[in-house]
Amino acid sequence: MAASQSKASKIFLSVALGAADDVWHFREIDHLFLRERGLDDIAGQFFHGLFFLEWIRYPGFCIAERREIAMNKWKYTKGLHDLGNGVYAYLQPNGSWGWNNAGLVVEGEESLLIDTLFDLALTREMLAAMAVATKAATSINTLVITHGNGDHYYGNELVHGAEIISTKACAEEMTRTPPQMLAQLKTAAPGMGDLGDYILQSFGSFNFEGINPIPPTRTFEGRINIKVGKKEVQLIEAGPTHTESDLLVYIPQNRTLFSGDILFIGGTPLMWVGPVSNWIRACDLILNMDVETIVPGHGPITDKKGVEAVKGYWEYLLAEARQCYDRNMSVDEAIADIDMTKYASWTDRERIVVNMQTLYRGFKGDTSPANVVEQFGGMAKLGLRKVESPE
Ligand SMILES: [Zn+2]
Repeated sequence: MAASQSKASKIFLSVALGAADDVWHFREIDHLFLRERGLDDIAGQFFHGLFFLEWIRYPGFCIAERREIAMNKWKYTKGLHDLGNGVYAYLQPNGSWGWNNAGLVVEGEESLLIDTLFDLALTREMLAAMAVATKAATSINTLVITHGNGDHYYGNELVHGAEIISTKACAEEMTRTPPQMLAQLKTAAPGMGDLGDYILQSFGSFNFEGINPIPPTRTFEGRINIKVGKKEVQLIEAGPTHTESDLLVYIPQNRTLFSGDILFIGGTPLMWVGPVSNWIRACDLILNMDVETIVPGHGPITDKKGVEAVKGYWEYLLAEARQCYDRNMSVDEAIADIDMTKYASWTDRERIVVNMQTLYRGFKGDTSPANVVEQFGGMAKLGLRKVESPE
């Protein structure tokens, strides 16, 4: 009697759980479940049918099990994560300043690397982990650079003999902030007051001495498709916005996207250049793609929910900033006025300074280059306060 009661309550719970889930979410998890077992091909369709029947019988059980797989699949831990079918992500928690992610696509003997890391020691460690994971990574054929910030390309001299691909604007931007500049800044930082403290807080962990990045060997504008073995990889220019040019790297066959810094997950996005309309458009572009797994430039592996969150941040900040601008409030007044409670758990909240400055420049139609010292100075004020009195 007790057993049948508990069975009845289990079934009720299962049905309730099943009903609470929309069909799309079910399909998403289901696909992941199949891929986990290497069944996302034609044979997989057969099993898909079986799982569907199983779901009809025990909806709650299936969804709960699959959800567990989905949530535990890629933990946010440092190192290489095998996403399956020749695609890997290299993650660096916590994703704050300089702690970016990179990617690897292999097929047969061929390999493509997406970004390197901020310094040589970190990049060396990553390349070694990749070479252990797959023989194809012992000699990288192609390196794609998503954008011209040092954390994504300073280590590229270690990728010997590879073709290095970036957009034209990215290649130009790469010449403007050589690692020597950051090395000098770090040396001078102790005498620079708050700004120096903030620079050391943000970049103190990295070694910029003796780095000589290699310029791209192939540049393009717009979109190109390249191949890794027979696998197609689409390179889609979605900027300027975070930087002068921001690249999305899409592998349709794997339903996987490397977004570069168009996505910061769990951290505040940073708009050095703008316009914000490009960033929102880039989010929409991703949301309309057939994509299941998304590796952001910084933060844990995500899916379209992560894209929605970043898009929501920009839509909210844009609307709030516009109101403040129309009321003739200064950037500082606006930052003090805007309620950012919803994003309080995201790291690097002080980036709102740069984001607001870029939004205001957009409202004014000011296309002159931003003052980097002013940008860092503003962030230092807020960023150091964060460390002194963590909430
Ligand atoms: Zn980055």
